[in-house]
Formats: sequence, structure tokens, C-alpha cells
Amino acid sequence: MYLGLSGGIGCGKSTVAKMLSDLGAVVIDADAIAKEVLEPGQIGYENVIHKFGDGVLDTSGNIDRKKLAELVFQDANQLAQLEDIVHPAVVARVAQIRESLPNTATVVYDTPLLVEKQLQNQFDRVLMVFADLDVRKQRLVDRGLEIGDIEARLANQVSDEQRVAVADFVIVNNGSLQELRDNVTKVWQQVSA
Ligand code: ADP
Repeated sequence: MYLGLSGGIGCGKSTVAKMLSDLGAVVIDADAIAKEVLEPGQIGYENVIHKFGDGVLDTSGNIDRKKLAELVFQDANQLAQLEDIVHPAVVARVAQIRESLPNTATVVYDTPLLVEKQLQNQFDRVLMVFADLDVRKQRLVDRGLEIGDIEARLANQVSDEQRVAVADFVIVNNGSLQELRDNVTKVWQQVSA
């Protein structure tokens, strides 16, 4: 079983991923893989230096993700070029991880960009996590994010309708963590059967 997991920022997607992992799922964290493929020795690292020059390195020789972000977010063409490096590297790494797992594993692909990147058809099922906007804002404030940053990030999200349209399972996470765990367990019973 290959389950796609997504949701808007502050909905509780990472919390759900952790709960699924505790229940026995193998969770692949898309953001973590995207970082990993740019580490020294990885294919993305060499390709980024080749394309963007060693001005994107920090003093220790690692890719400075902030510098890289500043460079590409001003220029759609450069952003596309970076995507062309990172995307295939992530796809290859994910394929490698999945090949190393038994067929019986329930694998969860945790990505904030499932809808944006139209990944839904890759999965057997899609689980989408939702929460009301005020609940999400409060959770992000509690997590230490600046309100301006939160508003900017929230403004940049796809709509709930677009998320629902690709979902097989929906969890609304406005309540307690115990309530969330109960709902995650219900989904787990269906995807791990
Ligand atoms: P996302 O990955 O969707 O951005 P997180 O899982 O990181 O969201 O959750 C955002 C914050 O809200 C975290 O600090 C998390 O511990 C907290 N949180 C998530 N769900 C609940 C809940 N049901 N009750 C209380 N806090 C929650």
C-alpha cells in the first residue's frame, strides 16, 4: 500500500505522519529527501554547483539553501532549472527506498505539495488532513512562527476544495490529539489491512 499524505500548513500533517509511523507505517518525508539529495556526495549537489556556481556554497562547502532560495525565487527560469535537478533526484531516491522495502509494507509519502505537483495518481490512496484556519494559525503561533510569516504562507496554499477532490480519506483535525489519534487509527485499519 502506497499512501499519499498531505494537508495545508498547520493542519497537523506531520503529527499524522508520526502517528502512522507509530502504528507501523514506513513514512517517507518528501521535504527531508529534497534536502538529502543536495548534500555533498549526492547527485543533486554536483548538479546544483554545475548550474548555479559555487557562490551557493557556505564556508563548509554545503549548499546554502537560503542563498539558493533567494537566487531562484526572483527568477522563474532559474527556479525551473533547480526543480529539474531536485525533482528527478527525489524520484530516484524514493524509488530506491521503496525497492528496499517488502511489498507488504504500508508506505506513507508525506508531502506538502501533493496537490500543487499533481502527484495523486502515484498513490493507491490519498489521505488529506484539514483544520479550520483559526486553529491552524493558533497552532503555528504556538509553534513559534511569526504572524506575518504565517499569513504569507497561508495565503500561498491551494484551496480545500482542490485538496478534497484528490482525497480518499479526510481527517479534520480541529479537536484533541486523542481524537486525531483515533481518526488516524481508523484510516490505518483500512490501509494496512
Ligand atoms: P503541519 O505538518 O500540517 O504543518 P504539524 O503536525 O506540525 O502541522 O502541527 C502544527 C502544530 O500543531 C504542531 O506543533 C503540533 O504539535 C500541533 N498539533 C497538531 N494537531 C494538534 C491537535 N489535535 N491538538 C493540539 N495540537 C496539535
